[in-house]
Amino acid sequence: PAANTSPARPEKEQKRTVTLTHPDRIYWPDAGVSKESLADYYAAVWPRIAPFIVDRPLALLRCPEGIEGPRFFQKNTWKGMNAHILALDDPQGDADGHLIGIHDLDGLMGLVQSAALEIHPWGASCRDWEKPDELVMDLDPGDDVPWKAVIAAAREVRERLGASGLTAFVKTSGGKGLHVVVPLKPEAGWDIVKTFSRTLAQAMASDSPDRFVATVSKAKRHGKILLDYLRNQRGATSVAPYSTRARPGAPVSMPVTWEELDSVTGPAQFTTGNTLERLAALRTDPWETFHAARHPIETRTLRKPRG
Ligand code: ATP
Ligand code: MN
Ligand code: MN
Repeated sequence: PAANTSPARPEKEQKRTVTLTHPDRIYWPDAGVSKESLADYYAAVWPRIAPFIVDRPLALLRCPEGIEGPRFFQKNTWKGMNAHILALDDPQGDADGHLIGIHDLDGLMGLVQSAALEIHPWGASCRDWEKPDELVMDLDPGDDVPWKAVIAAAREVRERLGASGLTAFVKTSGGKGLHVVVPLKPEAGWDIVKTFSRTLAQAMASDSPDRFVATVSKAKRHGKILLDYLRNQRGATSVAPYSTRARPGAPVSMPVTWEELDSVTGPAQFTTGNTLERLAALRTDPWETFHAARHPIETRTLRKPRG
């Protein structure tokens, strides 16, 4: 049976009801982040992260012994899974396999209990599996690409999206690059969204072949930025805004405003250690208008910016 798909209501502060075993287990030794402090982090950012992870298929990077131990990327439910994690039925999937979902803060705490150190949602919600409500352009800098060039690339992606009537938002990946994320009215199917994003990446690569590539080819990437559009196909995932990364320093994928982007010092600047202070200091959510900015993807044209 499909999960209840009514929208979750983020609560301001919620007490933890999910039992954490081994709360003192250290997940990020260099940053001193324990399982319990991860739970505290997610409880604090719950209202921000909820719209991006509730009621959509999730892949998890699980690291039961922390970032220095074994890790596995998990797309399906498992035996003995925490009771607050949901099994989702992919309408096009195998009858015997279920995808992973959550519906509330307890579900997120279930993920913490399961040592999910990264949360990677689909670009579509369970309300309509076949119509993405997000487009992600993943900017992957090759060796020797200055950070400022990654920022400039994100701005160019934004400008081109804007010429097609789409509103773009940006976040650090918490790894090496930036993600430009576009809220979509879920009207077009995966094929159209993928074709649209590929066309955009290829246009940029063909206009600036010295700066961008649109296909994964390590040899060609040296000194260039890969415009990775392949997040935009059915079953593909990207790390959620506010998700932690299983990398040194406990970085998080952080939404930022276009205005502040030039002052962002790098892709892993934001961590579990500085996020709450950042959010408290901001007057508004950096992605405040995200959900109000949904436009349908324009299927016919991919206009180049003027000038
Ligand atoms: P970076 O800025 O370093 O590129 P990223 O989040 O853009 O960070 P990765 O962490 O390299 O990129 O993840 C690449 C993609 O592959 C993500 O969309 C993720 O959902 C998926 N992924 C990550 N780890 C695995 C894995 N072990 N197996 C399969 N897919 C994975
Ligand atoms: Mn990337
Ligand atoms: Mn990539």
